[in-house]
Amino acid sequence: MAETTVRELADVVGIPVNRLLAHLGESGLPHTEADERINDQEKAQLFTHLRRLHGRGGAEPAAPRKITLRRKSVSELRIASPQGRRKTVTVETRRRRAYPPGAGPRADSGSAAVREESDAKARMDAAKRALQEEAKRRQQELDETLRAEAEAREKAEALRKLSDPEKKKRAPVEEQPGPEPAPEPVEAASPVAEAAAVATPAAPVPPPAPSAKPAPPAKPAPPAKPAPSAKPASSAKPAPSAKPAPSAKPAPAPSSRRPDAKRGERGDGRERGGRRERGRRNREELHVASDKAGRRRKKQKSRPVVRTQPARHGFEMPTAPVVREVAIPETITVGELAQKMSIKATDLIKALMGLGMMVTINQVIDQDAAVIVVEELGHVPKPVKESTIEEEVLQAGDEGGYPVAPRSPVVTVMGHVDHGKTSLLDYIRTAKVAAGEAGGITQHIGAYHVGTPRGDVTFLDTPGHAAFTAMRARGARATDIVVLVVAADDGVMPQTVEAISHAKAAGVPIVVAVNKIDREEADPERIRQSLAGHEVVPEGWGGENMFVDVSALTGQGVDALLEAIGLQAELLELSAPVEGPARGVVVESRIERGRGPVATVLVQAGRLAKGDILLAGQEFGRVRGLFDEAGVEAPSAGPSVPVEVLGLSGPPDAGDEAVVVADERKAREIASFRHGKHREVRLARQQAAKLDNVFEQMKEGGTHTLNIIVKADVQGSVEALRDALAQLSTEEVKVNVVAAAAGGISETDANLAVASNAIVIGFNVRADAAARRVIETELVDLRYFSVIYEAIDTVKQAMSGMLEPEVREEIIGIAEVRDVFRSKRFGNIAGCRVSEGAVRRSNPIRVLRDSVVIYEGELESLRRFQDDVSEVRAGTECGIGVRNYNDVKAGDQIEVYERIQLQRTV
Ligand code: GDP
Ligand code: MG
Repeated sequence: MAETTVRELADVVGIPVNRLLAHLGESGLPHTEADERINDQEKAQLFTHLRRLHGRGGAEPAAPRKITLRRKSVSELRIASPQGRRKTVTVETRRRRAYPPGAGPRADSGSAAVREESDAKARMDAAKRALQEEAKRRQQELDETLRAEAEAREKAEALRKLSDPEKKKRAPVEEQPGPEPAPEPVEAASPVAEAAAVATPAAPVPPPAPSAKPAPPAKPAPPAKPAPSAKPASSAKPAPSAKPAPSAKPAPAPSSRRPDAKRGERGDGRERGGRRERGRRNREELHVASDKAGRRRKKQKSRPVVRTQPARHGFEMPTAPVVREVAIPETITVGELAQKMSIKATDLIKALMGLGMMVTINQVIDQDAAVIVVEELGHVPKPVKESTIEEEVLQAGDEGGYPVAPRSPVVTVMGHVDHGKTSLLDYIRTAKVAAGEAGGITQHIGAYHVGTPRGDVTFLDTPGHAAFTAMRARGARATDIVVLVVAADDGVMPQTVEAISHAKAAGVPIVVAVNKIDREEADPERIRQSLAGHEVVPEGWGGENMFVDVSALTGQGVDALLEAIGLQAELLELSAPVEGPARGVVVESRIERGRGPVATVLVQAGRLAKGDILLAGQEFGRVRGLFDEAGVEAPSAGPSVPVEVLGLSGPPDAGDEAVVVADERKAREIASFRHGKHREVRLARQQAAKLDNVFEQMKEGGTHTLNIIVKADVQGSVEALRDALAQLSTEEVKVNVVAAAAGGISETDANLAVASNAIVIGFNVRADAAARRVIETELVDLRYFSVIYEAIDTVKQAMSGMLEPEVREEIIGIAEVRDVFRSKRFGNIAGCRVSEGAVRRSNPIRVLRDSVVIYEGELESLRRFQDDVSEVRAGTECGIGVRNYNDVKAGDQIEVYERIQLQRTV
């Protein structure tokens, strides 16, 4: 900084040029023009003068001892009380800041350096330090301000709640004596200012006041804040001269406050403040502070405390879309899903609607739908398999490495109905099952363990009727070998073909038993040919299926059949662990009076024993008893042995897997989980179906529903009936199986029938006394059946009864118009000749012209000569008056017809 102009200098020090020129003049310098140059020496002279002028010259004119800045700000805070009154609180904030020598900004350093070169360095260091400290302090102050702001806001909130009369309070203010001896930067806030808990960071200002730049406020003074001490809440000291709140650190009169005591006291205060602050923070985090807590807190408010995190309320808008991972269980309600995505349910419903799903907030949607909609909304779906514990438990049984031994084959006998499956089995077992069957039809799966000369074989008998497809499919899955029974006198029938496809689907070898070869019309060759057409080719023809001709009546060929089965089994090299926890499949189940749920379980591996905890589908329980098919109690059952199991919580579904688990609690858990899942899935389906119904009804103007409750002796029949009945549904009449279960007809069933206006079908079961009472008083339609076809036929009839009768029109006569006469009394009368049938007066008519209907109505009069008649037959002439129609012309035809109602059948 060698030589500058006066203007530049004025610019640097931030005062008007004129004033600077005046100062220059006063200090004896010759400058009078703004553009005159001024050198360092002259500058030094100017500053010396200025210092002297401000009373700080003297012996060491260039060593300012300390600069103190004061700032006062007064603000008013208007607070509306809930009563509508306004309250004004005046807040006066005074701040004072002292700067040590050298802490001043550059304006001073230039000339100072010239004069006091020896001091310059030290002062620069001091300045640096001071600046650093200043920065630190300002940061602290900023924090303080923020906190104070938050507090003030709280205060304002509290104030608003109070209904104190309007009151003006002034935070008492105290003038601090000018120079402070403190050698380092100190925020010499007056106790009052401290109490006011408002501290605004003040910008450092260059020390030489006259040449000082106008201090730019580093931060705009915070909005008016109620001084805690002035809080009217306490209202005990409303005086405007109110000293800091009673509890505030003893605020001594400013005069009594010794500067040296200040720091210690302050430190002390801070310490306390720290403690209080901890306590307060804890409380403040409970955003809802009770009034009481608020009042208690008030006192502590008076002391400003440093806070790292200002207590700010509010919401920060996320700047990027939040992508969430959404775990989706197998079913979920719309509301829950929306919650998981943190979106509004209505938005989710909107999105689902966009996907064509009309849902409500409480509706359960399935996993697939949920996954799609979650993806649609930009989140990441995570389908959750809830069956994890299930798998864990089930797999636990697998480990063990129990000894594996050969096991006997499980053979399922399949074929068309009446081809002799049961008879064949009866012969093999030397039992008479077929004879005892209702209608001679097998209606449930049977499992028999038979000792044959070639070793033990377990036979599963399956029904041949179309209704039992599911049962046959299960039979095929649980088996090692399928024996396909085809009657030699009949041929390949639909269920024969179906049995082939089931066996093929399950990958089970087929042994064909061509039955009834004792019959005269038997033609085993033809059977072989037609089966070859279904890819069941005899070995003799280069295929891989063994064919055996048998007669279940005479027993011819049965040994050969058993031999073939044995051979096939040997090829399969069947083996299974003979010990260890059992695993098997439920072949059939039912509820028996006095025994409870009874499940026929075919053990496939391990050993099922009394006392085991068995988990079968949705049911579980400790095995109370094991019985073979003859009803003889068995202690345990190994692989390939079918047993009846007592002790389950309910009848499991046929086809369910049955597993022995170690832990009853786990078994219960899984069973109840499956129950729940079953219910949820069913609910989800039902809701979907309900909606379908609504749409259908909207489309068709209403359908009829026939409600049915099915009770049957065994689970398999229940299922077969339910499926068969449901399949009867047509567009006009829906069959709705309200409930279907194994067991007798109970009062609950009867009540359900009343409630749902359902027909009750008892299949090989009867109603108990309580149920009978309900059925009699409420006139429930109860039907007993023992043959499945009959049940189906009856339901069909009932459905027919619900069909709208068909209305058909039948033309009963046609009259040709020959001429038209005008009659004063009757209007136009058509002179006709009846060409076909008869014309009856009472029937509706149509007038046709060129075979096109031009009028539809009824007859006014029918006359033959002068007489009114009711009927005119073909070949005769008559006069016809059409009611309200006078436009009949010669050549028209009058068609007389009849409406007939026809009762339809399903
Ligand atoms: P499923 O429906 O396949 O179980 O057939 P059934 O075992 O109930 O038999 C149906 C009918 O065929 C019964 O009347 C049996 O007496 C008759 N039947 C079965 N096997 C033979 C046979 O080998 N020869 C003759 N003549 N009749 C048989
Ligand atoms: Mg049968």
